[in-house]
Amino acid sequence: MFDVNEIRRDFPILSRQVYDKPLIYLDNAATTQKPRQVVEAITNEYYSVNANVHRGVHFLSQQATELHEAAREAVRAFINAGSADEIVFTRGTTESINLIASSFGEAFVNQGDEITITAMEHHSNIVPWQMMAARRGAKLRVAPIDERGEILMDELLGLISDRTRLIAVAHVSNVLGTVNPVKQIISSAHAKGVPVLVDGAQAVPHVAVDVRDLDADFYVFSGHKVYGPTGIGVLYGKRRWLEAMPPYQGGGEMIKDVTFERTTYNDLPYKFEAGTPDYVGSNALAAALRYVTSIGMDDIAAYERRLTDYAMQRLAAIDGIRIFGTSPGKGAVISFLVGGIHHLDMGTLLDRLGIAVRTGHHCAEPLMHLLGIEGTVRASFSFYNTMDEVDALADGIVRVARMFR
Ligand code: PLP
Repeated sequence: MFDVNEIRRDFPILSRQVYDKPLIYLDNAATTQKPRQVVEAITNEYYSVNANVHRGVHFLSQQATELHEAAREAVRAFINAGSADEIVFTRGTTESINLIASSFGEAFVNQGDEITITAMEHHSNIVPWQMMAARRGAKLRVAPIDERGEILMDELLGLISDRTRLIAVAHVSNVLGTVNPVKQIISSAHAKGVPVLVDGAQAVPHVAVDVRDLDADFYVFSGHKVYGPTGIGVLYGKRRWLEAMPPYQGGGEMIKDVTFERTTYNDLPYKFEAGTPDYVGSNALAAALRYVTSIGMDDIAAYERRLTDYAMQRLAAIDGIRIFGTSPGKGAVISFLVGGIHHLDMGTLLDRLGIAVRTGHHCAEPLMHLLGIEGTVRASFSFYNTMDEVDALADGIVRVARMFR
């Protein structure tokens, strides 16, 4: 097991102070901090390699292209995809889902067809489907969850009909922390001939993901949540789907030949990558993936398991607390409310203690409506957080609660 204090030295921001207090950063589900290795990959590339990729015969362009394509291969290996052609770089989870909704929708969804999601989805995995459904005359079906925050599997599978074109489901909920049984969902959906998209935004930073073992048709995630830079994300799609889907955007890179009359499109994955790609971002994402791999995804998962279990135990003991999402084995996310204290007040006062948490609906307003609340306070953990920070969070919550009594 790694030494958390040694790890923390890789993240300069973790040693800064806010309001003259040591920063306790517990907003990792929103975005993670960056290790030196990632920041250095960015500066090194701008200082010594920078040139536009794929189009140049000159030395720098070729070197930048090699880094960009090596990054694609690093992503492929990280999620165990079968081919780098199945890895499309996007701006993030949101763009990946919009791309699939748009292109898959155009190719496969018609009047009266259905897309099935679950009640715990992030807006990114709701709104693109609504927009596509409106364009194609399709319907959105929503699988319910129980009081622990687990999908009601029978209900989900019961929603699958001969009109179901796709199931889109979060691997891990960004509000409840629930780790959904995506492998089981995929195999049940496949038995009925329905493909599955997995929103892996909250899974990839925390557990080893193997898209071929899951047999996912699409798997998407964001670089910035897995210690990489903002502005880069990944869409994994099985070749058979990607080949059958039309391009998402038109422009440079995604073409083979262009005349004023017609255009032929490039091969995978470039067909879906119009314009200059974020080649600095892809290389830095690869640095982030190397970084977490060097620590070990299994060690990360084991450490975060202990941290989350300890945090659940400490927080559950607080008078008047309500924790949303109590599924066993949940991910490193704890959403809560204490007594009648508004989530914004709790978040603001914790912030004054140096503790960064997120407040609000966490881009899951329909889930908030279902829970009958406006929002929660959310603490989310990373392998660089410590048991002492969990104690500080629990003590901080108690201190704020006392102020309101
Ligand atoms: N899906 C889930 C489960 C998320 O937690 C998030 C971000 O919070 C997203 C999608 C959207 O990610 P991004 O804003 O990086 O596109």
